Amino acid sequence: MAVNFLYPDYEVARNYDKCIVCRACERQCANEVHEYLADANKMVCDDAKCVNCHRCVSLCPTRALKIVKSGNIYKENTNWSGKTINELYRQAGSGGVLLSSMGNPENYPVYFDKILVNASQVTNPSIDPLREPMETRVFLGAKPQCIERDGDGRIKNNLPPQLSLSMPVMFSAMSYGSISYNAHESLARAAEELGILYNTGEGGLHEDFYRYGGNTVVQVASGRFGVHSEYLNSGAAIEIKMGQGAKPGIGGHLPGAKIVGDISRTRMIPEGSDAISPAPHHDIYSIEDLRQLVYSLKEATDYKKPVIVKIAAVHNVAVIASGIARSGADIIAIDGFRGGTGAAPTRIRDHVGIPIELALAGVDKRLRDEGIRDNVSIVVGGSIRSSADIVKAVALGADCVYIASAALLALGCHLCRSCHAGKCNWGIATQIPELVKRLNPEIGYKRLVNLLTAWRHEIKEMMGGMGINSIESLKGNRLMLRGVGLNEKELEILGIKHAGE
Ligand code: SF4
Ligand code: SF4
Ligand code: SF4
Repeated sequence: MAVNFLYPDYEVARNYDKCIVCRACERQCANEVHEYLADANKMVCDDAKCVNCHRCVSLCPTRALKIVKSGNIYKENTNWSGKTINELYRQAGSGGVLLSSMGNPENYPVYFDKILVNASQVTNPSIDPLREPMETRVFLGAKPQCIERDGDGRIKNNLPPQLSLSMPVMFSAMSYGSISYNAHESLARAAEELGILYNTGEGGLHEDFYRYGGNTVVQVASGRFGVHSEYLNSGAAIEIKMGQGAKPGIGGHLPGAKIVGDISRTRMIPEGSDAISPAPHHDIYSIEDLRQLVYSLKEATDYKKPVIVKIAAVHNVAVIASGIARSGADIIAIDGFRGGTGAAPTRIRDHVGIPIELALAGVDKRLRDEGIRDNVSIVVGGSIRSSADIVKAVALGADCVYIASAALLALGCHLCRSCHAGKCNWGIATQIPELVKRLNPEIGYKRLVNLLTAWRHEIKEMMGGMGINSIESLKGNRLMLRGVGLNEKELEILGIKHAGE
């Protein structure tokens, strides 16, 4: 007989003095936590089903609800934490691999929080961003080593295709299928309004969104879902996904239950069939193979689109990036180990990969040392949480950042980490029509625009404080950074001095 050793992680605390039995919580919770007892005219709940998404808390008209962490504790010790014991019981009960969503929550260093930014004082005056022009526009793509002239001495345009962004931010890959139609529409519209790009992820491009093509990165992943000539030509850039920070070295899996209607058509696979992306691309086992795919995609798009190669940040990332920079790719995207996901094996998400800050610094240095830094632009992602993280990433050598979790939070995500269950109460990581319509794209896109408008102001203020009026001048300018509480090896890899030096 199966024995359930598990006690709920959260408890729903209802203040019965405030509860007016309106039953809104019951209607809002797709996990069926709340239940109305007609006989007693009273609400009750099943705490075990609660994932702490805060939907009911936010919409309770009398603020009668709170979700509290369960006070129940295991007899844990330093070696056997409550979390470890809980996960072991779950696996002993299910016999299955543990799945998780969103980014790595474990207690590894967050290097962005151990780096501080410089400011001008006295000798190198700061710039007032309200009165002086401040340039946040960036151009992504390979830059020529030298200016060429034709026979008449006129400068030849030898610039490979570039992406022009109003600020050094793009929305990272999130596939239609892992997130909802309304979430995709919000991202596409926001990208258009902001003058940046969003990314289809590996699920293809819904026909309704072709009109946002100039603001779209179309992705080609190992499953090749939804990839065809029109798709490749519709985007502003093409991204080859080799890896993802949340699950380096393994493939992806969208269960057949989610492959319905438009999602199956967009992915070009039958309804109800599992969408399995293999761990490797079965035609890529070397940089030469990668080069063939890069040039196949360029050929298919008349050499008009920059090609991005996305990899996870892993131990030898600098060497891999060096190979990619020589493969003909225009942009390298590196995804750190805190990067989010719709679903990943928990052990992989929490124990594989390296921090993006160290990966970025290592890659930028290696490409500079080899004299090939201008062959490619570098885009980094993996838990960029604020404008300060962007400024630090650019100073460490990034041309641009990818954001995903931050964008979802702007859309209403409450980081309940249950995307893999497909019942997102905020209408984001779900395909259930009643839930999808909870996210209004009109509101969603405006919130995204607000977030990045605010970040852009903050970036300008920080640049002004440093006496820098162009984001390009900040790129790789590590003199603007100092570390706090970092050891010598960490400072060496980051290429920065300690605070006080
Ligand atoms: S939403 Fe609030 S007031 Fe309404 S039934 Fe639930 S707890 Fe009571
Ligand atoms: S799962 Fe979300 S909506 Fe349901 S009870 Fe918990 S916090 Fe409320
Ligand atoms: S997208 Fe939805 S399911 Fe995923 S973490 Fe956010 S609120 Fe939870």
